[in-house]
Amino acid sequence: MTDIPESISRTWNIPLRATVDVAVIGGGSAGIAAASAAARNDASTVLVERYGFLGGTSTAGMVGPFMTSYTADGKRQLVAGLFQEVIDRMVAMGGAVDPSNTESGSAWSSFIKLGHANVTPFQVESLKMATLEMVCDAGAQIRFHTSFVDVVMQGERITGIVILDKAGLGLLRPKVVVDTSGDGDIAVKAGASFEVGRREDGKMMPVTLFLTIGNVDDEQVVAWMREHEVLHPGERLFECIVKRARARGEWTLEREFLNLYREPIPGQWRVNTTRVQNIDGTNPADLSRAEIESRRQAWELIRFFRSHCPGLENSQLIATASQVGVRETRHILGDYVLSGQDVLEGRRFDDAIAQCSYPIDIHDPQGPRGRLEGIRSEHYEIPYRCLVPRQVDNLLVAGRPISADHEGAASARVIPPCYATGQAAGTAAALSIKQGVTPRELDTELLRSTLRKQGAIV
Ligand SMILES: Cc1cc2nc3c(=O)[nH]c(=O)nc-3n(C[C@H](O)[C@H](O)[C@H](O)COP(=O)(O)OP(=O)(O)OC[C@H]3O[C@@H](n4cnc5c(N)ncnc54)[C@H](O)[C@@H]3O)c2cc1C
Repeated sequence: MTDIPESISRTWNIPLRATVDVAVIGGGSAGIAAASAAARNDASTVLVERYGFLGGTSTAGMVGPFMTSYTADGKRQLVAGLFQEVIDRMVAMGGAVDPSNTESGSAWSSFIKLGHANVTPFQVESLKMATLEMVCDAGAQIRFHTSFVDVVMQGERITGIVILDKAGLGLLRPKVVVDTSGDGDIAVKAGASFEVGRREDGKMMPVTLFLTIGNVDDEQVVAWMREHEVLHPGERLFECIVKRARARGEWTLEREFLNLYREPIPGQWRVNTTRVQNIDGTNPADLSRAEIESRRQAWELIRFFRSHCPGLENSQLIATASQVGVRETRHILGDYVLSGQDVLEGRRFDDAIAQCSYPIDIHDPQGPRGRLEGIRSEHYEIPYRCLVPRQVDNLLVAGRPISADHEGAASARVIPPCYATGQAAGTAAALSIKQGVTPRELDTELLRSTLRKQGAIV
């Protein structure tokens, strides 16, 4: 009998593909902004993305609408810059509603009031094109169908990024790397420390496969909600229907109401309702289980909509996302860790690079509900130090895995702040190269004034 080895070791000859100032790894919301910002600030920039389009969780994951980019009272815009540019491009294409025109408690925000004013409903295809054009116009080079594999380190400095594309393994040689992989993949390979999920037990929020349904009677859904809201204040969409169905054994999903967001196209709604627990989004076996389970749930939902929900009797499944949406995995530890308390108290920082007002939104890692807790101030700020991982010299992290605890990340994870931290990271990467310093040593006043000049609200 032959022994099958548990692992093998091989030596590869990996050809150099490009030498650049800035390599941005991951073309989601944060990566789009980081690559555009780095290129606009004169850095030769490559954006590496495993799919054939940009947007990550917001396109491949079909997550939407963009949550609020305004203060909690809806009076002042908090996230502009590249984020607003993407919205303007989509509005011009007829594929989005500007957040200045959407109200909390409306169909655009799944009738949710707390923290759900000024959301941005958008169509996925418009977002793919708007972001592609913005990154290309900025002059960044995009490498699609390319996966990050590993880092080459010299002490605490990344000197190479190993990628895998259709031609095999390749090498990028960047001066500064921006990790926008959503999970902090690059930071972890480079030796940065991190936390996973909740501090006490490492449990992460559940994952959700998004779907878009069509042929919905919009007016009937709105009318049902209005009628039931009057009868039972605080009622969420179809909550009493779900409760009754659960009591009769006709509802098996771990959700107590339906989250349905109206899209810009009449009759089309985005569904954020499937839920799979105990998934580690960095574990391939878990991800496969999540896809299988959530795709079954998607069809269960369609049957439920048709048989139980007024206005959805004739609904059709138009699309499921290409990948299950992962809310939480690693939090990379940086020079500052944004806490839930910082968010709730509306904390301000001298090195702030972004503002946000979205509530702490925790989908319970163990149960059917969650915690949506509004902040007690107009907004809070995200300091630059949250983007600077502790142990690595020439790396910045932006988007979902920035340095925050479970509660802090439960607010800062939404799309508008992901664009804002991405724009800050890309700008910081380019400025640090111009100044001949590491990102950690960068003058944060220079960063903040550059961001302001380029449209960001800081
Ligand atoms: C189910 C769910 C519902 C949500 N609801 C909302 C909502 O309604 N509104 C809202 O504003 N926010 C919502 N969020 C939060 C928000 O969507 C995400 O936190 C945000 O999109 C993350 O953006 P990102 O750029 O950090 O990461 P991502 O968008 O995940 O981007 C990461 C990118 O990196 C690429 N990548 C990953 N690994 C590699 C690799 N090894 N090589 C190459 N490329 C790689 C991916 O393909 C992807 O393009 C939700 C999230 C989830 C999961």
